[in-house]
Amino acid sequence: MISLLGIPYDGSSTFMQGASGAPDLIRNAIQSPSANLAIENGMSFDLSHNVIDLGNLDFADLDISTQAGVPPSDAVDKEIRRRIEDGVQNALEVGRPLLSLGGDHSVTFPIMNAIAPRYKRLTIVQFDAHPDLYNDFEGYRYSHACPFSRILESYDHVDLVQIGIRTMNEHCRLQAEKFGVTVYEMSNLPSSSELVFEGPVYVSLDLDALDPAFAPGISHHEPGGMSTRELIETIRMINANVIGADLVEFNPVRDSNGVTAMVAAKLTKELAGKLMESAFNSRN
Ligand code: MN
Ligand code: MN
Repeated sequence: MISLLGIPYDGSSTFMQGASGAPDLIRNAIQSPSANLAIENGMSFDLSHNVIDLGNLDFADLDISTQAGVPPSDAVDKEIRRRIEDGVQNALEVGRPLLSLGGDHSVTFPIMNAIAPRYKRLTIVQFDAHPDLYNDFEGYRYSHACPFSRILESYDHVDLVQIGIRTMNEHCRLQAEKFGVTVYEMSNLPSSSELVFEGPVYVSLDLDALDPAFAPGISHHEPGGMSTRELIETIRMINANVIGADLVEFNPVRDSNGVTAMVAAKLTKELAGKLMESAFNSRN
């Protein structure tokens, strides 16, 4: 059994908001009568059986700008991170692996504040077009362009492996070197033997790892990305105890005919399957 938590927050997006609408639309797409609940590993995504939906965190009372690139005040920003960290802590108390649905990618730092201290060593496998390693983005340190710098400077015991990157600039390359990040750019995707991990793994999946032809409902269209099939196969290749995951950056405002919602639903099911397999194996 796993837990599912929605984190409908997009106030740290630099270019376009909309990702806050993702969690409910992904749930709807999973329940769509046009598809079933099968996961490719033979399991199923069953909300009455093996997936406990904890609902969404609530940010409605907070003063969050609806304009992209205008970050919240320091106090509101801190409160947002506190709510996400507490929400994840509460979800983990019941002892099931957690799958979080964002939201923009800024949510992964406060999620990690709840998860990383629970492990002696942890590897994050990040699927993304972007390295998200800016020290700050136009002076803002909690932007969705920065979460992995915040995580790596906070936790020496966390390693980062990035897959699908195709926007590496000089600043982020230096950051990646400084933090010892393993980067598989789009032109150099990993083989299965490179995805064997001794310790626990957390998967952070930014939907823009996919080519926008497969998933147009994202804020930053970056051509030359993975196919849905390639991404699913690469997730399945990860040979490790996968202890948690998030799926972020689905932006329904940019979707076309709901196709990205179905892609996000499919990937949510596949990530859930990966978590269920790991939970099953570590129990046996
Ligand atoms: Mn990202
Ligand atoms: Mn991205």
